[in-house]
Amino acid sequence: MTFTRAQGLATRSIHGHGFKDAHGSPHMPIYDTSTFTFETTQDVLDAIEGRKLGSFYTRFGLNPSIFALEETLAGLEGAEMAWVFCSGMAAETALFLTHGRQGIIGIGDAYGGTMELLSSQLPELGIPTRLILGSELDQLDELLAEGAGMVFLETPTNPTLELFDIEAIAERAHAHGAILVVDNTFASPVNQQPLALGADVVVHSATKYLGGHSDLTAGTLMGSKELLGPIWNWRKNLGSMPAPATASLLARSLRTLVVRVRQQNASAQTIAESMEKHQSVRRVYYPGLANFPGHELAKRQMQGFGGMLSIDIEGGGEAATRVADRLKLFALAPSLGGTESLATQPCTTTHHGLPHEERVRRGIEDGLLRLSVGLEETNDLIADLEQALA
Ligand SMILES: *Cc1c(COP(=O)(O)O)cnc(C)c1O
Repeated sequence: MTFTRAQGLATRSIHGHGFKDAHGSPHMPIYDTSTFTFETTQDVLDAIEGRKLGSFYTRFGLNPSIFALEETLAGLEGAEMAWVFCSGMAAETALFLTHGRQGIIGIGDAYGGTMELLSSQLPELGIPTRLILGSELDQLDELLAEGAGMVFLETPTNPTLELFDIEAIAERAHAHGAILVVDNTFASPVNQQPLALGADVVVHSATKYLGGHSDLTAGTLMGSKELLGPIWNWRKNLGSMPAPATASLLARSLRTLVVRVRQQNASAQTIAESMEKHQSVRRVYYPGLANFPGHELAKRQMQGFGGMLSIDIEGGGEAATRVADRLKLFALAPSLGGTESLATQPCTTTHHGLPHEERVRRGIEDGLLRLSVGLEETNDLIADLEQALA
């Protein structure tokens, strides 16, 4: 049987590159090549004038290791096409500079770098931006009527796992001629497919679940040819192409994405249920818990509840710091999505730059500890949390 895009996600993550190697390699080898050669001047002109698309120059993305990776990435989100970048932030920057110039409305919490772009760097370039909280969603239509061309959100968010209804917000954005961009890093394509719910572009920090081993930095955009086409020139001239070796490492990681994330989902669910019963834990933030405010929406728009959860420690910020410092198996680090479990106290890392009142307004308690559940034995992770909480 041959590969088709209609096959399941695990099949697409392995065979989706659509590549058949002359030497029988089952996957794309690393083309560690910056410039590709031509037989004749006519061949060079055919490439430059766009008559023959193929390998040319790696910074342009015209390298077989990049092509193969982008085919696989597009298949993961059911997108017409995908572009790969040297980081998640490089992907977002190229996207905002191409399609955000009429204005961007950011909803809810977002990654620190995204917040910096939206709150200060893009406005410095004259790009109007507005940031609203989930509790201020009633302002969205009014803001859209002012002419913003893009709505941007993450769901679930960092670190309170707030969920947004992708389908409903896409409808509201489209009614005003704006596009909806969803940063799907936290959920991964295994747990959520925003394009199928009406989003126009999906962003990933591939550094997280797609890479999955804390050993590479990359980003990607997925969407239609119409929207992604014009981004190509920005990527090319910002020079934000990953090295072919990184592209190949990411393609290698994607082949195990589905088994990794499904195991992380199961482990996080067990840990969340265990932490919910712990006397030193005030509250657990996890979409898979029946009493979590976003649970019904999660059941509707997600296929799995993810490997990220946060716990609010009894005793506040100082108590949470003590727990964080006592953890032995969970490493202290602000990233996520790898095989190693990580813990971070947002008020000391990802949200350290925000004033205390602003953190409180966003529901980010000082006692919050965010956990990225890795692939260790679940019982060992629970034992580590219990000894740290004791
Ligand atoms: C890490 C992250 C980013 C930025 O990605 P980099 O690869 O570090 O540039 C963007 N969005 C989310 C949700 C992230 O977690």
